[in-house]
Amino acid sequence: MPWFSHDRTIPTDDGSAALDRESAIRRQLIAGLVKIGLATRQHAWAGGEQRGLTPTQGQVLAILLQRAPHGARVTELATALGVSQATTSVALKALTEKGLIQRTTPEDDGRAVVLTLTDAGLEEARQTLSWTDFLIDSVDELDEAEQAAFQRSIVKMIRAMQLKGQIPVSRMCATCTWFRPNAHPGSDHPHHCAYVDAPFGDRQLRLECSDFKAAAPELAERNWEEFVGVG
Ligand code: SF4
Repeated sequence: MPWFSHDRTIPTDDGSAALDRESAIRRQLIAGLVKIGLATRQHAWAGGEQRGLTPTQGQVLAILLQRAPHGARVTELATALGVSQATTSVALKALTEKGLIQRTTPEDDGRAVVLTLTDAGLEEARQTLSWTDFLIDSVDELDEAEQAAFQRSIVKMIRAMQLKGQIPVSRMCATCTWFRPNAHPGSDHPHHCAYVDAPFGDRQLRLECSDFKAAAPELAERNWEEFVGVG
């Protein structure tokens, strides 16, 4: 009898069999995530190769596209990529030589250097989005409610990994100062973005937003409790 049988005779006297079963179920979930991750990486490698870009260079373009028109500093890019500044600088040098990115000075800080996309870089960055197009059909297999639940689950997992320092910090709604979770209870669009002053639902939760501003720890905690309390 396989472990996932619905047979109710599975021994649970000391709880160990039930725990093993729970562990095996979690492992299957993780195996599924790993499979999707592998496929995504393979497509990113293939897409990058076609365009003469390394995966890191492609990621830099994708991040700068998400943060357009503001751009990002080298340290911010390194943090978002989860790699060292030295590795980031190598990618930036190559992208600059290809004419895809440029160094600019923000109006509010004359001493800072910010990387932004050139026109050619903008075009190239849009191409990198197609590297994950193969996932669209599988996402479309989920109905709207399933997509909303999936997005919510992803937000929870990303936040948990962020808190443990396992992945780079995402500029996502859940930790944004403009996020007002469950501001419109009972509605299809229960949350509110105070930046654009508009309601939105779980399906529209952003994982990368150019208008993101990190919430103070107390607000972030309060928002999170409100957010998970209405799931
Ligand atoms: S500014 Fe962006 S990240 Fe912040 S709440 Fe609005 S949509 Fe979400």
